[in-house]
Amino acid sequence: MTDPHSIEIETFCLGPYQTNCYVVRSRAGGKDACWVADMSFDSGVLLGRVDQLGLVPEAFVLTHAHVDHIAGLFGARKRFPATPIWIHEAEELWLLDAERNLSALSPMPMTAPPADRLLRDGDELALGGHVWRVLHTPGHSPGGVSLYQAEAGVCLCGDALFAGSIGRTDFPGSDFATLERSIREKLYTLPGETVLYPGHGPATTVGAEKATNPFVRG
Ligand SMILES: [Zn+2]
Ligand SMILES: [Zn+2]
Repeated sequence: MTDPHSIEIETFCLGPYQTNCYVVRSRAGGKDACWVADMSFDSGVLLGRVDQLGLVPEAFVLTHAHVDHIAGLFGARKRFPATPIWIHEAEELWLLDAERNLSALSPMPMTAPPADRLLRDGDELALGGHVWRVLHTPGHSPGGVSLYQAEAGVCLCGDALFAGSIGRTDFPGSDFATLERSIREKLYTLPGETVLYPGHGPATTVGAEKATNPFVRG
């Protein structure tokens, strides 16, 4: 029996865009393992925390490939060279393309190391004793994914949905109708008490957003 309380999610709000990067730790069944979800600028504190836990991340999992979610990957790889990078298949090449990851618009165009595993909707990802499901939630970007762990009732939703807001849809490759469908069909169908950990801003719940989100009302 998996103890749902053995999942811990630590939030690190990093870089000029205040991007939430998460250390997701599972301690079910006597195992201790972690992922890092998204890797922004100025990720030293986050990496130091992983070191302090005495863990090597089993993966760098990316909710999408905008620059503020991938900028720290080269540095992270230096620290943890064996840790693979996982991203949805639709954004595999965005890691390698400063135009697509939007950094070409900034004073510091950048890329990231190539992906090691490509994710698809419905994939099941094991971390320690827990299984997480990949939910493809495009719209903010074509390869946006949310990571859902049912027993613990938690979901990392990237820039699809925020507390009281939604992801921008004015970027190349963004589409409001697609994002609205992702939110309605993939996120608002999760149990209301599910805690959402977004790419920016505070955590919220599915029930709260369905009731009060001004952009996509449930
Ligand atoms: Zn984004
Ligand atoms: Zn973002």
